Amino acid sequence: MSLLQAAPDQIAVAARRVMARCDELARVSATTDGIERVHLSPEHARVNRLAAEWMRELGMRTWQDAAGNQVGRIDPVGAGAGGVGGGAGGAEHPALLLGSHLDTVRDAGRFDGIVGVLMALEIVRLLRVPAAGGWAVPLPFALEVIAFSDEEGTRFGKALLGSSAVAGTWDDAWWDLADADGTTLRQAFLEFGLDPGRIGEAARRPDEVVAYLEAHIEQGPELDRADEPLAVVSSIASARRFRLVVEGEARHAGGTPYDVRRDALLGASEAALAVERICAAEHHIIGTVGQFEAFPGAVNVIPGEVQLSLDLRGEFDGERDRVWRGLTAELDEIMGRRGLRWRAHEVHAAAAVFCAPLLQDVIRTGIAATLPPRAEAPPVIFSRAGHDGMALGALTDVGMLFLRNPDGISHHPDEAVATGDVAHGIRALAESVLHLASEPR
Ligand SMILES: [Zn+2]
Repeated sequence: MSLLQAAPDQIAVAARRVMARCDELARVSATTDGIERVHLSPEHARVNRLAAEWMRELGMRTWQDAAGNQVGRIDPVGAGAGGVGGGAGGAEHPALLLGSHLDTVRDAGRFDGIVGVLMALEIVRLLRVPAAGGWAVPLPFALEVIAFSDEEGTRFGKALLGSSAVAGTWDDAWWDLADADGTTLRQAFLEFGLDPGRIGEAARRPDEVVAYLEAHIEQGPELDRADEPLAVVSSIASARRFRLVVEGEARHAGGTPYDVRRDALLGASEAALAVERICAAEHHIIGTVGQFEAFPGAVNVIPGEVQLSLDLRGEFDGERDRVWRGLTAELDEIMGRRGLRWRAHEVHAAAAVFCAPLLQDVIRTGIAATLPPRAEAPPVIFSRAGHDGMALGALTDVGMLFLRNPDGISHHPDEAVATGDVAHGIRALAESVLHLASEPR
């Protein structure tokens, strides 16, 4: 059932504007031959100014919050001015938050995060009547678009700084994180014109917020393989990360017969292959060895020690933990057979964040409104990549919609999305907002 009263060409224009603005934002980069826009950089300030301009053009009230997130808000017709800007508090209506992030990895694509912020602006445009300054449909909540300042963690090595501040889960230990030049997060805040002492003002109260909805490109090929433009996201996978150390014995490469070698590199190699074999046999688990270093690292010495990383993620924490236990038994066997020792140090652990069933429903209904009658139900997939919703899950219900990513390439200049899919996504997200508005509260 379609609730949106928008002509198809209005949506097509909106999608083209999103694509043109992705190009415009791609030009705001610290490098001339690629895209790089990190937290609290001059480029961060420039894209916030651009986003604020685009928000004001839609009649939104704008502010940059205490964590450097750019926010725009529009209240429903008949509501007072409200005012959560700058942490003043006291809004009359709770707000539905729509957004994503504007920061990037190094040598990034132009759509990861960005397309979600720009689509959110088009939702605001479609749901209001510019002439009357009000809503085309009576929404029972305010709409806020949030462009998060840091999702990727490129500069300080800690992801989700912007959304953690909004969720009220800021950790003061983060102030001492330093970038590659030794600038601490605290110094960077000051240089950007933000007051670290006011970080708490970026935090929102659960009663100020209805929910958080985000559109994002899929960072894998599932939708492309299924020939589907859009999907409902069921959950955002959680990762556990380990540093593994395999110990053997460093000895002369010429003088040591095979039967007495304790080669740490060969044991670690078997371990990496076991990660692939065990995870590939699982339905919803993915494991990756991304770092691998042999010591002493000489051409004529049998490796006596290898350090390797393991990133293990899955839709369900319990499944992921069961796979880790299976892997440890496998590693015991491999290392025992080769006369090696091994140990693991866990460096990161996060719990999966489930998208709220009600929001999955409204997004499913929203996507269905873009499909021909009697089409199959839209696909439901889990996100293998992290998103701002992981942090927002501590504050409010989270819903996500994925857009097809041809070839599934992301965090790379070849990252892509089709204008037609963005159009479908805009319509689906607008329909989702209207369906959420029509839910009894
Ligand atoms: Zn992203």
